[in-house]
Amino acid sequence: MKLRLLTLLLVIPTWINAQKMVLKAAHLFDGMEMHKDFALLIEGNTIVEVGDFLSLRPKGDTILDFGNKTLMPGMIEGHSHVLLYPYDITSWDDQVLKESRSLRAIRGAQMAGRQLMAGFTTVRDLGSEGAQYADVAIKRSIEQGIVPGPRMIVAGRAIVATGSYGPRGFNPDVTVPLGAQEGDGEHLRTIVREQISNGADVVKVYADYRTGPHGEPMPTFSLEELKLIVETAASTGRRVVAHASTVEGMRRATLAGVYTIEHGTNATEEILELMKERGVAICPTLEATRAIASYNEDWDGISMPEPFMVQEKREMFKKVLKSGVTIISGGDVGVFPHGENARELVLMASYGMDNDKVLQTATSTNARVLGLEHLGSLKPGFLADIIVVNGNPMEHIEDLHKVDFVMKDGVIYKS
Ligand SMILES: [Zn+2]
Repeated sequence: MKLRLLTLLLVIPTWINAQKMVLKAAHLFDGMEMHKDFALLIEGNTIVEVGDFLSLRPKGDTILDFGNKTLMPGMIEGHSHVLLYPYDITSWDDQVLKESRSLRAIRGAQMAGRQLMAGFTTVRDLGSEGAQYADVAIKRSIEQGIVPGPRMIVAGRAIVATGSYGPRGFNPDVTVPLGAQEGDGEHLRTIVREQISNGADVVKVYADYRTGPHGEPMPTFSLEELKLIVETAASTGRRVVAHASTVEGMRRATLAGVYTIEHGTNATEEILELMKERGVAICPTLEATRAIASYNEDWDGISMPEPFMVQEKREMFKKVLKSGVTIISGGDVGVFPHGENARELVLMASYGMDNDKVLQTATSTNARVLGLEHLGSLKPGFLADIIVVNGNPMEHIEDLHKVDFVMKDGVIYKS
């Protein structure tokens, strides 16, 4: 801890004086491709030049040489829940029902910090799961320098159709806290406006949920309701992201104009074609499925046969890869431990995505789809969100777990 504080104290004045710093490593991934023996020149919080080390060396006041490692843009997590932690420690129901919002917010701030230290300098956090607007508070505490953490795009409470979301199964005479805000029909307009005024950067809606007669996922909101949500958010310049795993839920969400669909478990070729036509991206959240399978079915993930839900997700991802729909990366981290976000990227590769495409999704693709200007690439004029990976993730994608330098907005948080 002392060391980290010292690092911060040493670096902040550097930022203020806007010294020119050259960062060099054997490999540099610029958001699109890998280069050999490239370097970066940064001034303050901005990347000024990217290119051959020998030509940049004379321009720097300080030179940081990372040897045989890889320089990369700070990674972008597409689907996180800082207010959740793994269900094998505490069940989702118990987190929502028994833990105070204050406790959850304090833990959430720490979880956000873990994501930063793992090299994720920007995080889209998709729903506070019963902790009201604690995500907005965490985001602001990071912006105000109270706690270290990533840049955050937050969804606030999220919206569900009445009676569709958990915790469920209690005496109907008792009111229990819910994991998201319920609403239907015309009232959705008010809810969207209220969530935005309370700090939601994006609106998250559950287009389907496990409400079928046997607990299977079924569509919840009508197309008209989803359109009303999208239209209301759009008039304030916000976009809508939909949780959807059924074909009909995905169809309604796509036609209503959401910008990303989360999970997409039962995607068909037809629905993927429609998404592609409408420019809707998919966030497959592969690792969450694996994690839940290991909690529910005591699956060891190695020698035991893959549970059906994991096989289904793998097949779905292959279909998505073939379809040409834009894929963003986001693991639903929180379901599995914060700071292990890279598990999703490793899984994407093991399910058939080329390593260079995986690196692109975690950086430039996520930046483009999430509307993050000047992030996700190492290019002149971009923000100095830079990480160093110990190894070469183009050859060994697992190296993404070994992040040993993190700079966000020109400030070093880990070295
Ligand atoms: Zn989620």
